[in-house]
Amino acid sequence: MTDSILIVGGGVAGLNAAMECADAGARVHLVERGPIVGGKLAATMTKAPAIGDRSEGEAIPLLEALEKNEKIEILTLSSLESIEGGPGNFDVVIRQRGRFVTDACTRCKLCHKVCPVVEANDYDAGLTFRKAIYTPLPETLPQEYVIDIDNCLNSPPNYLPCQKCVEICEDDAIHFDLPVETVHERHVGAVILAPGFQIEDGAALADLGYGSHADIVTSAELQRLMESPGPTGGYASKLSEEEYPESILFVMDNPSQFALYIAASQVHQLLEQDVEKIAVIVLSQLKENDYAEAQQIAEKFGVEVCPATMFEVDAEAEEPLGVAYQNLTTQRYVRDRYDMVVLCSDVGPSDGLPELAELAEVELAGSGYVSVADADGSGVTTTRPGILVAGCGSGPKNIKASLETARAAAGDALANLDQRLLREGYVPQGEAEADAEAPQTDEEKRALIEKMLYALLDQR
Ligand code: SF4
Ligand code: SF4
Repeated sequence: MTDSILIVGGGVAGLNAAMECADAGARVHLVERGPIVGGKLAATMTKAPAIGDRSEGEAIPLLEALEKNEKIEILTLSSLESIEGGPGNFDVVIRQRGRFVTDACTRCKLCHKVCPVVEANDYDAGLTFRKAIYTPLPETLPQEYVIDIDNCLNSPPNYLPCQKCVEICEDDAIHFDLPVETVHERHVGAVILAPGFQIEDGAALADLGYGSHADIVTSAELQRLMESPGPTGGYASKLSEEEYPESILFVMDNPSQFALYIAASQVHQLLEQDVEKIAVIVLSQLKENDYAEAQQIAEKFGVEVCPATMFEVDAEAEEPLGVAYQNLTTQRYVRDRYDMVVLCSDVGPSDGLPELAELAEVELAGSGYVSVADADGSGVTTTRPGILVAGCGSGPKNIKASLETARAAAGDALANLDQRLLREGYVPQGEAEADAEAPQTDEEKRALIEKMLYALLDQR
């Protein structure tokens, strides 16, 4: 038996599971395939208590706490190679790609200025550019810059024709002689998979007009514009001329409940930014409950939500954009003009999930998410004993629900460790609160959904 747990995925669920396990006295190895932890939340939320308040000058409690916690080992740029064994006794192999920048980096930005390679910054929804040596976001964990070695002109260890960043770095933080790959072996008692989710990109929305005009954006792009660390300082802005929009049409095609939450959050923020006219059209039949929820959200915010069909946007017309659709409630054909059209991106399973599931020998459901063997009602038990799933790994969830699964997965994972090595008298955080909130009746369930929605909105 061991006192260690492996967590795969450094998003909000993985990070909170890590803190929960470390608080209980366990040692945590956290594997993240990207260059920083924080996941979608770090990039897309401006005021998320889970990682603290990202307003200018304020601290990020969770990231700071993680950095200081000696029980948590964070392995970025890393992926799982193998998991052998069973509950209480897993041997795992992790492969970590080289960062080529050490913790001597002071984030002085000098290298960023001289690097000749320009790439789209995925952490800014592709709306801004970065160099081959870069920091994905203004504040990150780990803090040091990273070299995107696939696009860098150097190919270590032998081919080093550029070196501009090395020459200008006054802190001697860049080393192309560091290993291109490192293999780590760890012995753990349980594994938590927290692979997160993937946001549908604009290409999937081309049929609705994405790509034909700068002011037709995805909800992921709008989200980034409305974040204070984002490219327009937190304000929705027309990308064609960097002016504030007065009217916005949201177009949702077959939205999940998660997409409804995101749209509601964005509408709420846009109304606060004094956008005068907002409408939402839904191009598919929503499930009755979801439609009722969409209507409820609409009524609260005073925006029109209507089922529609035959949507078209005329990107060639003079500003603002011309749109046309049939309103299925009134059966009338509508022609209108909006400064911006937002095509609501939906979410799907993380793109590396099939490979991860195969490697971990856990089954996926027909939806593509991790199948949950829910005999114990926790919603975090996979088909392989000792391997748990947290957050959006088993399906899209809002932050609160993700945190609940993180807590539950941590609790189940801790049960597989040598209890003598854990902190005595440990009580899982928020257990009492979670019990108290379990809804019993339909009314209570509806009230909880509403509470979750407003909790999400309050975090914005
Ligand atoms: S790698 Fe060097 S030059 Fe680049 S930000 Fe860090 S300290 Fe500055
Ligand atoms: S070696 Fe050249 S291309 Fe590579 S990160 Fe440094 S400056 Fe950029």
